[in-house]
Amino acid sequence: MKRIIKIILVAVLAFSAFLPISCARNKSEERSKYVIDARYDGDVTLEADMTLDYCNSSDVVLDELYFHLYPAAYRKGAQFSPIDESYTALAYPGGVGYGDIRINETRVHGVKTDFEISGEDEDILIVPLLKEIDPGERAEIQVSYTLKLAPVKHRTGKFDGVATFGNWYPIVCVIENGEFDTSPYYSNGDPFYSDVADYEVNVTVPSTLVVATSGTAKRVENGVNATYFSSLRCARDFAFCVGEFKVDKRVENGVNVLYYYRKDSDHEGTVRAAADSLGFFSRRFGAYPYSTYTVVEAPFLYGGMEYPTLSIVSDSLGKSLTKEATIHETAHQWWYGIVGNDEIRHAWMDEGLAEYCTTIFYEFTPGYGVTYKARMADATSAYIVYSDVSASDGKMDKKLNEFASYDYTYLTYLKGALMFDAVRKAVGDNAFFRSLSVYAERFKFRNATPNDLISTFENVCKTDLSGVFKGFLEGKTRIFSA
Ligand SMILES: [Zn+2]
Repeated sequence: MKRIIKIILVAVLAFSAFLPISCARNKSEERSKYVIDARYDGDVTLEADMTLDYCNSSDVVLDELYFHLYPAAYRKGAQFSPIDESYTALAYPGGVGYGDIRINETRVHGVKTDFEISGEDEDILIVPLLKEIDPGERAEIQVSYTLKLAPVKHRTGKFDGVATFGNWYPIVCVIENGEFDTSPYYSNGDPFYSDVADYEVNVTVPSTLVVATSGTAKRVENGVNATYFSSLRCARDFAFCVGEFKVDKRVENGVNVLYYYRKDSDHEGTVRAAADSLGFFSRRFGAYPYSTYTVVEAPFLYGGMEYPTLSIVSDSLGKSLTKEATIHETAHQWWYGIVGNDEIRHAWMDEGLAEYCTTIFYEFTPGYGVTYKARMADATSAYIVYSDVSASDGKMDKKLNEFASYDYTYLTYLKGALMFDAVRKAVGDNAFFRSLSVYAERFKFRNATPNDLISTFENVCKTDLSGVFKGFLEGKTRIFSA
């Protein structure tokens, strides 16, 4: 990977009006803000104007900004397809088609700039800042773009009347060790990593359609169109779905829980599962910090997908799997959403926890008829069968592209859940749950590393747990049936 942050001075262009503004002293205000005005035509095209008020919260001087263009992965000829070959037929039931993203114009503080499309797979937008910004300073970048949806049951696509807009706007790359992380769109896992920001997103659609969106939205009619005005603070992404949805609503501890569905014959059960799990996790790990939680039933290749304050569950699951997917994605509101992690290199952190917390929810919510014992026995035996036939080294802490597609689920979800269960058995229930709530509070709205997670447990439990974690993570611990 080429070095991508220049600390050398660049010639300042005609740009005298711009004086960098420092971020607020208050830590909680040191965030970037995305303001996006998007128009969706009801078919496959979205036009959008985005203004990013960027805060340089890194410790390096920046003279350009890098953005992921995730929709570029759906284009014809992309080197990294979001869909593993073995899933192509399932993902594109109507035949393979393509989407894309085209950048129309970029501006910095209102001044039109050149831009570059770069990255391993032409999936990175580079915008020169014209003037360097120091750590703590801000810059305003505008990007106008056109998005085309592929006919795919995936994060960014249109299928069976539902348009799904996940990872749909240029999102600034995380800076680590002085460089932007420009990882491409791996087909394994959720190949995303982002910092928390604020969002104000307006989406205009034909008025016959309904938008299910991140944040808290207000619909305003405008003749043949309707616009949804949505805002969301302290979130690491923003997503929405458009379709002819019906809506179920519940209120859980002051939070509006919305379920947008079309086919779900047990929609009352699904919204109840969303509300019950949101309430349960709030009590266990710390209050859900937003006013709305939205679940959308949409055509989706896998069971579901998490975005901040919005979860997608597949419309092709049966009753109990729909509930399970909803509970799993709701757990992600804490593990991925509130506490972020590098999902490209340490996927076990959020997937292992979301999977194990699903089991914990069932364990303490007996009305759902699923027992802890049965789920852990299933996970254990499935993992044993897998490890008997797999040539995998059992290592969990590796990059998404280093897992075979088949290995990924076993090593991050199942083995992740087994690892957290082993930690719980080693320290006892009180210390285990306290560790998770301290972890959630300590790393709220931040990105945690594996060491942050392990040391929080060790700190709270006052014991050395490196052997337990490392045994699993490094593939040394053998799993035996109970
Ligand atoms: Zn998950």
